[in-house]
Amino acid sequence: MKLHNKHRNVELIINQELLEKISQLGIDHYPNEFGGFLIGKYSDDYNTLFITDYILPKSYKGSRSLFERSAKGTKSLFSKLFKIKKEIYVGEWHTHPNGSTRYSDIDLRAMINIESSPSVNIKNPVLLILSVSEKKLNQATFYIYENKKLIPYE
Ligand SMILES: [Zn+2]
Repeated sequence: MKLHNKHRNVELIINQELLEKISQLGIDHYPNEFGGFLIGKYSDDYNTLFITDYILPKSYKGSRSLFERSAKGTKSLFSKLFKIKKEIYVGEWHTHPNGSTRYSDIDLRAMINIESSPSVNIKNPVLLILSVSEKKLNQATFYIYENKKLIPYE
């Protein structure tokens, strides 16, 4: 699947199988929110982001309307990933059970904190929000973070 962000004129590529795997994890945790980290790599010109994998948090809180993951253990995991596969942390994903894929104020604030965190050295992290119901994925929307805003890919 190839998505385009008009505002920044960049592309995001994720294969269907990976997206289905992530969706299934979300569906398995229905009716609570669930999520984790997105892993990927950029093209040399930084215009294309390939999402290649996900990582689940070591600990998290997921209720019907909130998901909070801890970053515990991720630093060493991410550096290992870079050494072995040249892949890096590129953003976050979480579900909205019975909700839309629109981001909440809390989601935006979380991304602002992530971008300004000294341990994150990418400038435009992505956020994937998956609308799920009990048995299926309804919709998946990727956003790119820029300057305290989240702008959807289409
Ligand atoms: Zn959310």
